[in-house]
Amino acid sequence: MIALTHTRGQTWAVFGLARSGLATARALIAGGAEVRLWDDTEASRAAAAAAGFQPMQLHEAALVGCAGLALAPGVPLTHPVPNQVVANAQRAGVPIIGDIELLLRELKPAVYGITGTNGKSTTTALLAHVLKAAGRPMAMGGNIGQAVLDLPRFERETDGVYVIEMSSFQIDLTPGWQARIAVLLNITPDHLDRHGSMDAYAAIKARIFGAQGAGDTAVIGVDDDHCRAIHAALLSEKSSRSIVPISIQRVLEQGVSAVNGKLYDNGKLVFALDFPALPGAHNGQNIAAAYAAARAAGLEADAIRAGIASFPGLKHRLQRVGSIDGISCINDSKATNADSTEKALAAFDNVYWIAGGKAKEGGIASLKPLFPRIRRASLIGEAATDFAATLGSSVPHALCGTLDKALDDALTAARRDRIQDAVVLLSPACASYDQFRSFEHRGDEFIRLVAERSTDEQGAAA
Ligand code: ADP
Repeated sequence: MIALTHTRGQTWAVFGLARSGLATARALIAGGAEVRLWDDTEASRAAAAAAGFQPMQLHEAALVGCAGLALAPGVPLTHPVPNQVVANAQRAGVPIIGDIELLLRELKPAVYGITGTNGKSTTTALLAHVLKAAGRPMAMGGNIGQAVLDLPRFERETDGVYVIEMSSFQIDLTPGWQARIAVLLNITPDHLDRHGSMDAYAAIKARIFGAQGAGDTAVIGVDDDHCRAIHAALLSEKSSRSIVPISIQRVLEQGVSAVNGKLYDNGKLVFALDFPALPGAHNGQNIAAAYAAARAAGLEADAIRAGIASFPGLKHRLQRVGSIDGISCINDSKATNADSTEKALAAFDNVYWIAGGKAKEGGIASLKPLFPRIRRASLIGEAATDFAATLGSSVPHALCGTLDKALDDALTAARRDRIQDAVVLLSPACASYDQFRSFEHRGDEFIRLVAERSTDEQGAAA
């Protein structure tokens, strides 16, 4: 834990008492501050009480005199409307910040920050893994894994760097953000309910590059319009930061590209993208970004390639969980919408697809161009009949009801067809709540079912 000694003698309010909120409260108290904390949900208040805190309502009067309000990133700051406690703090003249700002004020550390609409967790975990494999001291947290204030204390850069996944909400709550290495992967519509407009969302993402100067590096995807505009704006600034564009669409003369299964640095071939844990073109973008960031951190290409090769992948994201009679089983339970499933289907040629669950708006009509890759669809959950209607006569399919039946249905078909490179892919394009507690629960169930049927010597990887 990082005790926030710079807040000694101050009073702080903390709102939102999940993982990062409770870590913030502990770090403030350990640093010598007094803390007033609250959460709108009873269960979170009960968890805080069980952890030894005494929640109190954060009315305006309770906020007067506070040095700041530490807000959890899940709480609406501006859209659709500010949370009542946010409004109270604004009326009381209390600044509102997040836990990452508190970390930066305490330690002035070297941080590597990663954001983007998609691929944040993969790229953050990959970069952290590559650094670690090369023997660089570091700690990873933020929107992935641990809350930043639960990480170890690095007084100097030589003690370690912080590799931080930044959601747009976290960027919004970190006015003093400055990253030694900042990565922006891509910008596509998402969370607009929380940001108001696409322009507002893109402007927040662009702040990942805020306050950078000499010795700092900006790594930026240039494959979508919003990121291209931000790249152009960076180039026109007088800042002496380094700027490294990345692309998966074309080989850039200057910058890093992942095209046709190969990684290029300034137009020169560096290595082949032969990493089974990171399949698909979209992972090429994540690899290119992690490579560019690791180069900026001073690692050589060989060390980076070795680090990427030993990356095990992230759970529930195109995770290879075992093989049954030579058929690879892939857990992509994190794919809760058609956009994510599109990336998964594009990564394989012969797919026995398990899909369905609690339907999302739009269904799977957008996946039609990928239907030729699907040998059969085994459908589960509430969305099954709608998905069956969209698949129509173009893809053989069955209504299986539950995940275990769907896995057996997919395996039976795959064994019968005996196609090389066949994969059974759970990529539901749906939320999980009709049959599971969460996408993690759904993915864990799939892992268990595959392990039960596995013909691997060690069984499926957990
Ligand atoms: P995030 O942390 O931004 O949600 P993840 O790394 O957890 O991203 O990946 C979530 C899903 O997003 C993946 O299952 C995949 O479908 C998709 N995805 C991952 N990386 C990219 C990328 N670079 N571009 C587009 N989609 C991606």
